[in-house]
Amino acid sequence: MNKSLNGIGMTSQRTRARLIERLREQGIKDEAVLAAMFEVPRHLFIDEALASRAYDDVSLPINYSQTISQPYIVARMTEVLRAAGPLGRVLEIGTGCGYQAAVLAQVAREVYTVERIKPLYERARKQLSDLKIRNVSVRYADGSVGLPESAPFDGIIMAAAAPTLSAVLREQLAVGGRMVLPVGMQEQWLYLIERDASGFRETRLEPVKFVPLLMGKA
Ligand code: SAH
Repeated sequence: MNKSLNGIGMTSQRTRARLIERLREQGIKDEAVLAAMFEVPRHLFIDEALASRAYDDVSLPINYSQTISQPYIVARMTEVLRAAGPLGRVLEIGTGCGYQAAVLAQVAREVYTVERIKPLYERARKQLSDLKIRNVSVRYADGSVGLPESAPFDGIIMAAAAPTLSAVLREQLAVGGRMVLPVGMQEQWLYLIERDASGFRETRLEPVKFVPLLMGKA
């Protein structure tokens, strides 16, 4: 656990505890994930005007037509990623405000996160550094091609939906690695891709709603 977060946002401890109870009711079981969700002050990643809703289980706008994911989906994706054991190096595609990256940082040794919208990248970078979260590297790049220079990864999370399952990204998984991603256009599903010595296994998990993965930098 990242000790540097202790003491931040004490006023919202009780609201955060309620969020954890709701996540348990929704089926999140991994105690390390629940602890990470408790630890990370979600209200600091969104506009002050929306801060009172920070611990509601909803997605919220973060400008540039993007959203911070619903806490349930952040917890769920992190739990699926961690299901095979502790995480070493993880890649997130779609930093947004940096909230999911901050949660991942609590349960993985090192996190790389990639954002294509420059002001979002800059803000997330500053926010994570203000919180003294030091095991996250934020990159301004088109993540649709992954981050080949830092591969292989034990886990890959996509926070934006591609129309089809990408074959490029799974190649950046280590053997034993897992990738969690939303796939589809109007109708989207969460998929788990597992890599073992003999190849890849795909599992369709549950319906989801994500912003689209876009190409190029903005
Ligand atoms: N993980 C974020 C959710 C961000 S929403 C959070 O915790 O708040 C999805 C993000 O993916 C948006 O910020 C969007 O700009 C970004 N995105 C979409 N396509 C991308 C691409 N090709 N490369 C990098 N980021 C991308």
